Amino acid sequence: MSHTPQRLPDAERSPHSAELYARARRVIPGGVSSPVRAFRAVGGTPLFMTRGAGAEIFDADGRRYLDMVGSWGPLILGHAHPAVISAVSEALANGTTFGTPCAQEVQLAERLVAAYPAAEQVRFVSSGTEAVMSAVRVARAFTGRDLLVKFAGCYHGHADHLLVAAGSGLATFGRPSSAGVPEPFTACTRVLPLDDEAAAAALFEREGTRVAAVIIEPLPANHGLLPQRRDFLAALRRLTRVHGALLIFDEVITGFRLARGGAAQWLDIAPDLATFGKVIGGGMPVGAFGGARAIMARLAPDGDTYQAGTLSGNPVAMTAGLATLEVLERTAGWERLESSGAELERLLQPVLARSPFPLHLVRQGSLFWLACHEAGAPRTAATLSAAESARFAALFHAMLERGVYLPPSAYETCFLSLAHSSSDLTRFATALRESLAAVG
Ligand SMILES: *Cc1c(COP(=O)(O)O)cnc(C)c1O
Repeated sequence: MSHTPQRLPDAERSPHSAELYARARRVIPGGVSSPVRAFRAVGGTPLFMTRGAGAEIFDADGRRYLDMVGSWGPLILGHAHPAVISAVSEALANGTTFGTPCAQEVQLAERLVAAYPAAEQVRFVSSGTEAVMSAVRVARAFTGRDLLVKFAGCYHGHADHLLVAAGSGLATFGRPSSAGVPEPFTACTRVLPLDDEAAAAALFEREGTRVAAVIIEPLPANHGLLPQRRDFLAALRRLTRVHGALLIFDEVITGFRLARGGAAQWLDIAPDLATFGKVIGGGMPVGAFGGARAIMARLAPDGDTYQAGTLSGNPVAMTAGLATLEVLERTAGWERLESSGAELERLLQPVLARSPFPLHLVRQGSLFWLACHEAGAPRTAATLSAAESARFAALFHAMLERGVYLPPSAYETCFLSLAHSSSDLTRFATALRESLAAVG
């Protein structure tokens, strides 16, 4: 990077956000409720948002941005979609939660089961983290085994036994990657590299009889976007079956985004259990996990595996999810998202070709990633050098100045929504061309 763009101090540029951030830091650790929001990877003051409409968000200082984050995945219809807002408003008027079953959870479960054949039954929770925790618990109960295999670079929420760092090229014993997670908690977690059938086969050779489940994001989207070869995922399907372990697809991002039937449909590979979140909550706190009836039967009250939640399946959250899925289905949402993605790819190709530094577009459907790796877009979790990270930070701020809100980290994926119009895509491509020229 030859120079960073000229920037005013944040307090002058964004006085309202700066003031809120100063207050937040006194009463909230790091000033945020989730770490990546703090802009640590790109520098500067996080922007406090006040409003969203369609593909745009508006900050506390009255600036508007084309939003490429979509709250990290849930807002597949865009911000404040009228169908979602009116359905939720109607539900709200009847009360927010009863702590009893309600019709809306039955309807959402029916929709989920109809779209995702591997899930004969589902249960609702309030986050993706909880969905994964619960799926892993029922997998262990069903198999009577302890070991859990995950992949370096895949994120499955912040449950203790899944906060495990990447190993090197070989299978490694799980070491916690967060303070506060005792080593014995991760002693039953194994970490494998993505894109490596041989490493998976070797692990099953050694410890196959102890493996309860293999969990993977079928399209890893939390360490950049790392599309896997179908052969690799098919090998995991085979290995788990041969060794009596379960395969869990973490579809918290991909479920109802990549296709109606998620990555499982996209890949034509059926997992034993799947986890959902983000899109199925339509912007409200919702998670779900589902699988074959025989596995799900282990859950209380029918079975011996405990799982519960005060606000699980509440009518307001269920209604937001239902309204979102209804619009997606009624308007051929998944085809439209794919053609939006393809259009963006066409628009960006000439821009990236003239980029002053290596910048690669990785895209699947409505998910895309601008990879800054000099060596090309990786297929496994690859760390960026300091220089590569600095380029992204400069690009992030240059885009912000041009009214485009990228995720504030070089490792985060961008999300298109149905609210992104052709002119929004052009606006994005133009901003990227200008930003690259400015930071180059
Ligand atoms: C976001 C995410 C989670 C965690 O979901 P939360 O609702 O943030 O707890 C789990 N798995 C994947 C693949 C995710 O992207």
